[in-house]
Amino acid sequence: MVITIDGPAASGKGTAARGLAARLGFDYLDTGAMYRAVAYAVQQRGLPCTDAAAVEALLPQLHLEVVPPRLLIDGRDVTEQLRTPQVAQGSSQVAVLPAVRAFLVDLQRRFAQGRHLVTEGRDQGSVVFPHAELKFFLTADPRIRARRRWLELHQRGLPIDYDTVLAELNERDQRDCTRQDSPLRQPADAIVIDSTDLTAEQVVDLMETIARQRLALAPAFRSP
Ligand code: C5P
Repeated sequence: MVITIDGPAASGKGTAARGLAARLGFDYLDTGAMYRAVAYAVQQRGLPCTDAAAVEALLPQLHLEVVPPRLLIDGRDVTEQLRTPQVAQGSSQVAVLPAVRAFLVDLQRRFAQGRHLVTEGRDQGSVVFPHAELKFFLTADPRIRARRRWLELHQRGLPIDYDTVLAELNERDQRDCTRQDSPLRQPADAIVIDSTDLTAEQVVDLMETIARQRLALAPAFRSP
């Protein structure tokens, strides 16, 4: 079974996907981290993420390993390094490139084989897993999303002012919604959840209730 959660930046997809996967005993996949990993590898080589030829040339040498919740490049755990504003901006730049998308979509589909999976991103329900058993679209007011991201960055010791966070978030959403290949879309068959006035716990509660009803899972079902 595959459950997809798509939505704009900082809408709480990661927390929701991890929480729902834990409740159901499913595996969890953060596809945003995969785009971030490509951007990080490009930036580490001193190249701009907007240089399509350089990014594409790097892909065959890139050894990405997904071991949720960690992500390894060439065997090195880079999970923490992926959560910076610089990598976030770069990730949405490399995400416009069809070659990058094809490379990562293939990894995502292979990861899903033989698993019960909750996967989150921008195109999981619309493109990568169009036949997923259940699709969510998680959104929230941009100012609330920027505030959550600002808090997260401060807690991680990355002080950045709120207006910059809001501007970068809007810029990234704009790029993600207007790119040619797999733009952020709300799948027609997705259940929309607006988390503006909900806590993370309430979002997971709601998703779990819907998942158990829709997938006809017994109240105590947990995949082994
Ligand atoms: O979700 P997160 O903010 O970590 O995603 C980083 C970037 O990766 C997004 O802004 C988007 O450009 C890209 N992305 C994507 N498709 C996905 C997941 C992420 O294009 N499935």
